[in-house]
Amino acid sequence: MKYELNKKLSGLVPYKPISGDYKIRLDANESYFAADDRLLEEMKQKLGRIDFNRYPDPLCKNVCRLFAEYYGISEDYVTAGNGSDELINIIVGAFLEDGDKLLTFTPDFSMYALYGKILGHESVVIKKDDDLKIDVDEAVKAARENDVKIILFSNPCNPTSVGLGKKEVRKLINSVNALIVLDEAYMDFYGESLIDEVQNYSNVIMLRTASKAIGMAGIRLGFAVANSELTRALRAAKSPYNVNSVTQAIGEAVYSRPQLLKENTKKIIESKNSLQASLESIETECFERIYKSVTNFVFIKTRYAEKIYKELLNRSIAVRFMKDEYLRITAGSESENAAVISAIKEIVEGALI
Ligand SMILES: *Cc1c(COP(=O)(O)O)cnc(C)c1O
Repeated sequence: MKYELNKKLSGLVPYKPISGDYKIRLDANESYFAADDRLLEEMKQKLGRIDFNRYPDPLCKNVCRLFAEYYGISEDYVTAGNGSDELINIIVGAFLEDGDKLLTFTPDFSMYALYGKILGHESVVIKKDDDLKIDVDEAVKAARENDVKIILFSNPCNPTSVGLGKKEVRKLINSVNALIVLDEAYMDFYGESLIDEVQNYSNVIMLRTASKAIGMAGIRLGFAVANSELTRALRAAKSPYNVNSVTQAIGEAVYSRPQLLKENTKKIIESKNSLQASLESIETECFERIYKSVTNFVFIKTRYAEKIYKELLNRSIAVRFMKDEYLRITAGSESENAAVISAIKEIVEGALI
C-alpha cells in the first residue's frame, strides 16, 4: 500500500499562533474586553435552553436578525459562518471553477493565499507600495488583464492597519467583471463601510466577524453580507449546520447588547489612538514608519522588528512580528498599552539594539 500527499499539501504546516503563557497578549487583534457579568448571565440562561440532542438552526436566523439590526440592514442579505475564515473558504471553493484565478494583495490577510492554494487556484498577487495602500487603478488593470474571477482583500487591512475610502472601493467594484470579496473584519473601527449598499451590487460579498470589535473570537462567528442572489448561493453552498447551537446562543446574547458593543468599540478606538500617539512620541531612529491606523492595532516598519519582538517576549509581552521588518501591536487596556510602551522605550532607548 502506498499513499503520497499531493503537491499542495506536502509542504504545508498548521497555522501556529504564538503559544505560551505571556502576561500581556497584544498579538492577535482581539478585543481587550472580557464578557461582563450581565452578559455571562444571559449566556448561561440561553445555554440552559438549548436542545443539545437536536441539530442547530441551519440558517442561524436569530443571530443573523440581531446582526442585521445592529448594522441597519436586512437580514435577507446575511449568512452566518463558523468564523469568517469558514466563509472565505466556502466562497473561494464555490464561486471559482477549475482554472479560475484570484486576485489578492501583499501584505494582506494570510488566509486568502492559503485557501486559494488549497482549493487549487492560481492567485495573481499585487504588491502594495511603501504606503501600503491599495492602488485601485492597478488592481482594475491586473484584474482585466488576468481575467480574474475573485478579488479578495481586507478593508481596513490586516496587517497594515490602513484603510481604503468608500469612493475608491466603489470604483473598484464598478470597474471589474469579478466578484469582490470585501473583508470588513475591522470596519467597526473605521466608518467607511459599504454594508448598507450591498443590495445594489451583483458582485460584492462583504465579510464581518464577531472576533474583533465584538469581542467574541472564542465562539467562532462570522457573517457574509450580499444581495439576495449571492446570499441564496452561499446558503446553498455552505454545510447545513455550520454554526453550532452554543455559538448561536452566545451570539444572540452578544448582539442583543448593541449599546455595550458600541461603547466598547469606541473605547477600543480610543485605546488605539492613544497607543499610536505614544508610539509616535518615542524618540528613536529605530522606527522607519508608523502607519496611520484605522483599526484596533498599530503597524510599524522597523528593521529591528525581530529584535524588539523577542525582547518583548522576554518581558512576557506578545506582539506580532511579520517578516522581516514589521511589528503589529494590538491596542489593549490602558495598563497593557502602558506596559508595552515602557518596554519598547527601554528596548529602543536602552542600547539593547
Ligand atoms: C481576524 C480576521 C478575520 C476574522 O476571522 P474569524 O474567522 O471570523 O475569526 C477575518 N479577516 C481578517 C482580515 C482578520 O484579520
